[in-house]
Amino acid sequence: MSNDENIGVSPTFGKQMLAAVLRFFNPSYSYCEKCGMPWNHCKSKSVYTSERSGTFATCQECWDNSTLEQLKEYYTNVYLKQKASIAGTEYKMEHSLEHLLKCVEQEYARTHGS
Ligand SMILES: [Zn+2]
Repeated sequence: MSNDENIGVSPTFGKQMLAAVLRFFNPSYSYCEKCGMPWNHCKSKSVYTSERSGTFATCQECWDNSTLEQLKEYYTNVYLKQKASIAGTEYKMEHSLEHLLKCVEQEYARTHGS
């Protein structure tokens, strides 16, 4: 009996491995909060928080395949990371977390139907 059959690698696991490898080779890129793919290997999905600025937490594919609750969680993570990264500098967040999540809700309703 051979050992190398049926090692139980799921397609999801395969994608996560690929994402981890791509992140290793593209350390300067940040990545999708859900699947982990760096932005130079997937299409990011922007949520606009004002007329000229937007932010993104997931790729288009993950945006399409996530619930509103999941997306709010991803955007909250990104917001907190951004906030932490400018702590101690003269920069300030352009908007509140509440505003960002409201924009996420509006965009979700627009792209997923109500
Ligand atoms: Zn993704």
